[in-house]
Amino acid sequence: MLAECFEINDLRFHSLIFENVFIEKLWTGARWTEGPCYVPAGRYVLFSDIPNDRVLRFDEVSGAITLFADRCGFQNGRTLDRQGRIVSCEHGGRRVSRIEHDGSTSELCATFDGKKLNSPNDVVVKSDGSIWFTDPTYGIDSDYEGHAAKSEIGASYVYRIDPQNGKTAAVAMDFAKPNGLAFNGDESSLYISDTGLSHDPDGPHHIRVFDLSADGKSLQSKGEVFATCNAGVFDGFRFDRDGNIWASAGDGVHCYAPDGCLLGKILIPEAVSNVEFGGPKRNRLYICATQSLYSVYLRTNGANPTVSSDAH
Ligand code: MG
Repeated sequence: MLAECFEINDLRFHSLIFENVFIEKLWTGARWTEGPCYVPAGRYVLFSDIPNDRVLRFDEVSGAITLFADRCGFQNGRTLDRQGRIVSCEHGGRRVSRIEHDGSTSELCATFDGKKLNSPNDVVVKSDGSIWFTDPTYGIDSDYEGHAAKSEIGASYVYRIDPQNGKTAAVAMDFAKPNGLAFNGDESSLYISDTGLSHDPDGPHHIRVFDLSADGKSLQSKGEVFATCNAGVFDGFRFDRDGNIWASAGDGVHCYAPDGCLLGKILIPEAVSNVEFGGPKRNRLYICATQSLYSVYLRTNGANPTVSSDAH
C-alpha cells in the first residue's frame, strides 16, 4: 500500500507519514475544488467548487457533504482569521470578503490604487490581524471561473491589508501569477507560489521565500526560489509544526523540508489545488484535487493555528 500512496525521496519522510493508512477519497462531483478551510469549532471543512460557483462543507463528524453557499462570487481560497471568521477570495466579486460572526458579509478589499482587483486567489492572516492575498488573473481570463474581463491593474500583485486602517498595500509586484501563500511558524518568512507556467510554457512553477521586514509589514528580501515543481505547478500549500511545507502539485502533494529538500509525495490520481490541516489534533490533511476531496492522516500536525487562543 505504501508504494501506491506515497513516494519516498528522503528517509525523513518516514517520520511524517503512517505506512498503514489509506488515502481516503471523501467525495467527488466538483469541476475544480479549491480553498479548503477547516473550522475547528464546527469540525467541518469548507471548500470551493469554483466553476460551479458554490462552496461545499464536509462534516467531519457525520461524513456528509452539504451545500454551504452557491452563487457566492466564484470563491477560491479561504482561511480563518484570528477571531475565527471566514475570509474568502472571490473571483466573481473581484474582492476579498469576510463572513462576520452575525452571518453578514463584509468587503475587505476590492480595489488597489483606484482600480479593480483581478481575481483574488488565496489568502492568509498573520497573527497581527493583517490579511495577505494574491491576485492573479485566473478568475477574469474567461467566464469559466468568474467573469471574463480585462485586468485594470495590468499585472498580478501580492497585497497586504492593514488591520488598523484597512488600507491595502502591494507587497510583491514581480510575480507572473502569484497563487498560494503561507507564513512559516514564527512568521519570519512568507512563502508564495508562482503558477505562471499556466500562461507561458517557460513561465515560473515554483515557490519563493521572502524575509519579512522588522515591523512585519512588508517583504524585505528579493524572494529567492525555495523549490521548483517537478510535476505541474504548486498552487496552495500549508506548513506543519516542524516547518515542512505540504504543497499541491500535478501528481499529488509534495512535502519539502525547511532546507528545500523534497522529502516525498502523497500520490493522488487528480491534480491537487490546495491542502489544509484539520481534525481536532490538526493531523489530518485535507486535499482538494480537481473534482474530489481527499484526506490522509499524517504523523505530524499543522502549524499556525488560526484562532486567537493559539496565536503567538
Ligand atoms: Mg490557488
